[in-house]
Amino acid sequence: MDSLPTVLLKPGEADRIIAGHPWIYHGEILRATQPPADGGLVQVKDHRQRLIGTGFFNSKSKIVVRVLSPDRVEVDDKFFEERIRAALAVRQRHLPGATSFRVVNAESDFLSGLIIDKYEDVLVVQISSLGMDQRKLLIVAALQKIFSPRAILERSDTASRKFESLAEANGVLSGSLECADMSALSSTRHVASSESGEASPQSKIVVNLNGLKFETDLVGGHKTGLYLDQQANYQAVSQFANGAQVLDCFSFLGGFGLHAARAGAAHVHLLDQSVDAVEASKRNAAANGLAEKCSFEAINVFDWLKAQTAVKPHEKVIPRFDLIILDPPSFTRNRASVPDALRGYKEIHLRALKLLKPGGTLATFCCSHHVDAGLFQDTVLSAAFDTRHVLRRVATYAQGPDHPVIPMIPETEYLKGFAFELVR
Ligand code: SAH
Repeated sequence: MDSLPTVLLKPGEADRIIAGHPWIYHGEILRATQPPADGGLVQVKDHRQRLIGTGFFNSKSKIVVRVLSPDRVEVDDKFFEERIRAALAVRQRHLPGATSFRVVNAESDFLSGLIIDKYEDVLVVQISSLGMDQRKLLIVAALQKIFSPRAILERSDTASRKFESLAEANGVLSGSLECADMSALSSTRHVASSESGEASPQSKIVVNLNGLKFETDLVGGHKTGLYLDQQANYQAVSQFANGAQVLDCFSFLGGFGLHAARAGAAHVHLLDQSVDAVEASKRNAAANGLAEKCSFEAINVFDWLKAQTAVKPHEKVIPRFDLIILDPPSFTRNRASVPDALRGYKEIHLRALKLLKPGGTLATFCCSHHVDAGLFQDTVLSAAFDTRHVLRRVATYAQGPDHPVIPMIPETEYLKGFAFELVR
């Protein structure tokens, strides 16, 4: 272990790492004692030679070292097994009963560059660092030991891989999806290919979220299949749905809308611009016996809201929804795009508020890391001011506990949401 190459930090650069943030940039490094191999393990010391931790090195990345442990560690099969079991225990504690969830969320679980999602008996791995990529076999072996999954897929298709000089990698790492049991969604056996053009019925499985079934495409779907981070929020928001006329904007597979329908909504209208997503959400509504209460439109939400709120001068928009859900994709790619994004967020809130009945509830989410909860709420309030409405905040939401927030690592926090009642 002592023979590990050593990276010495400049004075003043160790504290953030000691406090738990795992990233070390070029500018923070004083020198390395021997040239470390890209993807190899290094020990990190402060300028006085005190050990700060052990991590993966990659000279080609902006993040030169990704610290894995404050101690000297061997990164072997035992390491991955212990770390994954520890992460799993967090989920079992905070999401008891869930059968699909994120098992490992990279920095949130002190495994920078590694995401593992569990969709029932199938695991999906997403790798975004060279160190993790070189240890894929160890990771797969640990997963087989812990979960005995039917299949392990890789969805390493994130843009961040190119910053580590890694190419995209997608495929089956172990097992097979061949005998995927789609009997619960009988109409899905012959579904058309998804947007990626790669998906086949075999890449689709039925995922159970809070007792509802969702047909999920593990090859062509968003993220690694669906938005596991909203699982608890689907249930929480549905408490406002009883007897309600509901509008689910950016509905994807119908997560919010179908939970609302099950919770006693009078009717749910779901909007998403993706035809494939709308078709999948229709099948999901039918599979859960909720189709009669639901209507669907494949349309741009901005256009739809604009059309619904366009009135002649002296006419008023007639509010007709009791619950409106806004869960758009992130409108920011980076810090520079925040002003444009805020205009987009404000626009949908302005129009949604016009369609909300007095006493109704607006459940709204923002998954942009660059827009924090304060700024997001300010944007909603600015829309409320312009429409002369007053809001009562009745709930605040965050990403699910399978996407843990480590406050010392601000990058781990991204999803926030609120439920507001329309006071007047
Ligand atoms: N609420 C969903 C997640 C939404 S993700 C869930 O919990 O699963 C964002 C969704 O918005 C995607 O399905 C995408 O197709 C859709 N989308 C993105 N921009 C859109 C737009 N301008 N109008 C309508 N849908 C849009």
